[in-house]
Amino acid sequence: MTIPDRPFVSYHLWSLVAPATGQERWHCQMRRGFVKARQHEPQVKALLAKATAPQRIGILAQKGVYEFHHHTHLLNQSDGVEKVAKLLQLSHSSDEVQQRVLQILQKYHNAPLLSDKHIIQLTPGDEGFPKPILIDQDDYCFRLYAAMDCVFTDSDHRILHIVDFKTGKATFDQRQALVYLLAAHYLYPGREAVASFYNLELCKKSDLISINNTELESLEFELANVAQKHQQDLQKYHQETSDFSKIFPPNPGSHCRFCPFNSICDFSEIKSSLPHPLPILKVNG
Ligand code: SF4
Repeated sequence: MTIPDRPFVSYHLWSLVAPATGQERWHCQMRRGFVKARQHEPQVKALLAKATAPQRIGILAQKGVYEFHHHTHLLNQSDGVEKVAKLLQLSHSSDEVQQRVLQILQKYHNAPLLSDKHIIQLTPGDEGFPKPILIDQDDYCFRLYAAMDCVFTDSDHRILHIVDFKTGKATFDQRQALVYLLAAHYLYPGREAVASFYNLELCKKSDLISINNTELESLEFELANVAQKHQQDLQKYHQETSDFSKIFPPNPGSHCRFCPFNSICDFSEIKSSLPHPLPILKVNG
């Protein structure tokens, strides 16, 4: 197993290294070990490949938004929702997924968030890893992965707006928006940018999030530390794989019930095959 030659970071990795505010009790470093160190082992790979219903809903909802704007006439047609559902091959999904995605499509058709925007980037949501951004400073060097769902401007084309689509009850983690703002700083140099979240099921917008240059610098430094810490942990693990639980310490508890690795984790308090309803974390985001 080869270790990436240069440290990398993404919002997903950051969330696995450090808990969001209020989530400290449930945070388990061993999950990071499974996702980021043992992901190629057949059992782990199989568990990672299993998309739960909430994950499928998230992916299909994003793809639905993409299809509406790829075929904009569908936004004005009375059977636009049915046509997009067909493009998504929604009938191949479970009843729960079909029902919730249809509701999302209907809501989006009624009030399309992006209808009067100048869309710069809109991803279908199933395109895999984005191209990394190389951040090379005097004191650190790392690759930043940031899969932005959508970037647009208003009619004045002035401020870039990055929006991340959510579904279900997933809470907004501001750190995800901060990672996008750092990525935008490199991808669109000199452009002013803001980020926000939009829950497609609740039709709920978050506040706009912005960051100044000093905050951007300290964010970059913090991400460099996350990338470096993870790189060091990977190196330690590959030197001595039997130290897995020392390098990625478990934090067992009732939350193991919602962990996708509870069936293979030696420390799990609950062996279960239940789907996990934790907030959806995009593997490339
Ligand atoms: S089952 Fe529990 S201890 Fe094991 S990785 Fe998951 S949360 Fe951590």
